[in-house]
Amino acid sequence: MTRTILIVEDEQAIADSIAYALRTDGFTPYHVMLGEQALAVMRSSSDACAAPQLVVLDIGLPDMNGLEACRQLRQFSDVPVIFLTARSDEIDRIVGLEIGADDYVTKPFSPRELVARIRVILRRARVAPPLPEAGQPPRADAARFELRTPEARVLFHGQPLDLTRYEYLLLKTLLEHPGHVLSRAQLMERVWSGAPDTLERTVDAHVKSLRAKLRAVDAKVDPIQTHRGLGYSLAGA
Ligand code: CA
Repeated sequence: MTRTILIVEDEQAIADSIAYALRTDGFTPYHVMLGEQALAVMRSSSDACAAPQLVVLDIGLPDMNGLEACRQLRQFSDVPVIFLTARSDEIDRIVGLEIGADDYVTKPFSPRELVARIRVILRRARVAPPLPEAGQPPRADAARFELRTPEARVLFHGQPLDLTRYEYLLLKTLLEHPGHVLSRAQLMERVWSGAPDTLERTVDAHVKSLRAKLRAVDAKVDPIQTHRGLGYSLAGA
């Protein structure tokens, strides 16, 4: 089965480096320069390109903003989207607007890191059960956590958590690596990538506030484990 990844990026050199990393990892890249072209490909799943399983979407495109392209895409497709952004102030909009991004990377970035994130998202997409229809009650059999990236939201025991942006990103990162110990440095890189002067105690402070919010829902367990001198992990569900 081919695993096609659509790259929407107007800078040829960046697109080439992503395409190369994807091919090396067994993916089939398909590159377009414009948002309109990307929407056309996704609408038709044309002969030119087997239906892409994920879209890597630059925000600064010549014909339209990548955020707008994603908004239009979401009207007919729930394909996973990873944004490429050159500006940290765009991250606020990616996360805050709830336009249905699955992840983002800030330029300059490592193409291999991007491909690693693509793998994580595709793995999750494969195992994730379908979301309930809008207006339906949460599934009673839900695992303790339910990550809803399109809404930038996490449910715990079926209850939506009221999280700040960084608490959300922190929990999302831990949920994507269940059972893995993530060091403070790794969490800073993944969660606070747009804030280079983050301190390790910032991570600790957010873990603390996150724990308090989880405890408010379920005081019996602490899903976030501290590994002294190493970092944090989330107990496997
Ligand atoms: Ca660009």
